Amino acid sequence: MKKSASVQKTKRFRDCERRLVLLDWLRTRYDHPSAMACYAEMQRLMPTIGQSTVYRHLASLVKTGLVKELRPDDGPARFDASLHVHAHFHCVHCHAVLDAPGITIQGQWPGNAQAVDVIANGLCQNCSPRHK
Ligand SMILES: [Zn+2]
Ligand SMILES: [Zn+2]
Repeated sequence: MKKSASVQKTKRFRDCERRLVLLDWLRTRYDHPSAMACYAEMQRLMPTIGQSTVYRHLASLVKTGLVKELRPDDGPARFDASLHVHAHFHCVHCHAVLDAPGITIQGQWPGNAQAVDVIANGLCQNCSPRHK
């Protein structure tokens, strides 16, 4: 277990609760929502929540390692609560970010590599001309 440095008794409970709602929702998603998409959904679940609150919770989830932040070449950052090591595929046309769990990187790193962030860019199946 990671020690949580900021568990204060009651004062920030509602804040923590919101963070938990956000994390729980992200764990059900496999499409790597953007911060805007997170905000839209949190607003649906908790109508009084502000955009800055959602963004702050996202940042804190990333900082504590509960959520991974992906940065495709273009477009906004995307968030992934699935923490097992897996590569991603970013569609340059529709901006879908898809899991590519079978991809591994072979070879010798010049050091002790602990995390490998791979985001391949290309056209997804929906956007490939072949499939139209
Ligand atoms: Zn696409
Ligand atoms: Zn992923």
